[in-house]
Amino acid sequence: SVPAAILSALAAAARGGVLFKGGAALEALADVKSFSFDKTGTLTTGTAEVTDIDATIGQDRMLSLLAGLEAQSEHPIAAAIRRRAAADGLTPAEVRGVVTHPSEGITGVDEDGAVWAGNQRMLERMGATATTPGALRLKNSAQTVTWIGRGNRLLGGVTVADRPRTGSAAGLSQLRAAGVHHLALMTGDRRAVALRIGRELGFSEAEIHSDLLPEDKVRLVGDLAEKGRTAFVGDGVNDAAALARADVGIAMGVAGSEVALQAADVALLAEDMTRLAAARKLAQRTKRIIR
Ligand code: ADP
Ligand code: MG
Repeated sequence: SVPAAILSALAAAARGGVLFKGGAALEALADVKSFSFDKTGTLTTGTAEVTDIDATIGQDRMLSLLAGLEAQSEHPIAAAIRRRAAADGLTPAEVRGVVTHPSEGITGVDEDGAVWAGNQRMLERMGATATTPGALRLKNSAQTVTWIGRGNRLLGGVTVADRPRTGSAAGLSQLRAAGVHHLALMTGDRRAVALRIGRELGFSEAEIHSDLLPEDKVRLVGDLAEKGRTAFVGDGVNDAAALARADVGIAMGVAGSEVALQAADVALLAEDMTRLAAARKLAQRTKRIIR
């Protein structure tokens, strides 16, 4: 049977917005030596905003096509794009056969044929280039760029501003102060954005990993396993494999995708890293009691 101390710790953690799937996850958290964090939607807010737009077709047409592609996506970028299209009074275009490409973007088919949206990796895979003055302005912004195109023809792009969540910087420094020596930022986003947000949150350059595919996150968590027990905190479809790989997978409880929550051992309902640091302390106290 589960010791009473663990049951009461699980209840206390739940009151603090941290839901453990069981006592074993709570005990494992006490011994974690490295914490790795996804960026977009995890350390940063899921309510980002479109900050700049460049279109080679009419801006409204481009935005409604982009909103149509992103209509069903759980990615925070998609939500920002849908909100902007709605604010501009646009109806999302009809896009069928939508396929999500984790850490890259999305593809589909509208009345004129195949269309895609995504990052630089997706753009390059489609053989498109972003060299117009407008495209260069987006590229030089140090914000997350989403390109849209048809085959190798670029239709435009938007930037989305990514801001740290309340509690991210404080939670990370609480973990460091409590003696966690191995912290890492692991993102599918590009280097410039990763560095800007990462430094703002107190990560050293060596701790910041960018341009990652889902399997890269798995590999990096595996590397950290040499230091001892691992934890990974994420929100997206692209984080599911890393959440499963880590000894303790922690998913964002509200903005997090369904697959991320299923792969995780812990749901961070509070979506605040200071609560995670508090839950780790509680887990350590509880372990001392039951030993
Ligand atoms: P993170 O690892 O920081 O959460 P993701 O791996 O989810 O970031 O995404 C990495 C990059 O892939 C994003 O910055 C974005 O450029 C691109 N991307 C992923 N999904 C989408 C999507 N649905 N629409 C547009 N771009 C996307
Ligand atoms: Mg994410």
